[in-house]
Amino acid sequence: MSSAWAGGTDAIIERMDKMTELFLEENRKKIYSGESAEFCEECGEPIPESRRKAIACRYCLACQSALEK
Ligand SMILES: [Zn+2]
Repeated sequence: MSSAWAGGTDAIIERMDKMTELFLEENRKKIYSGESAEFCEECGEPIPESRRKAIACRYCLACQSALEK
């Protein structure tokens, strides 16, 4: 009886872990899309959508590389 319970609890924990994982993943996506700026904060140039979607960014490629130097 107790072993059956243990198995059931494990399955529930596993499912909750999976749900937490999915929830965090979803949240992470929202945070990333929210952080990306449409225009570069340094020079005001529009940031390409592909770049904004790929990573959370606030600067265009030119300014980003200049800042990283
Ligand atoms: Zn820029």
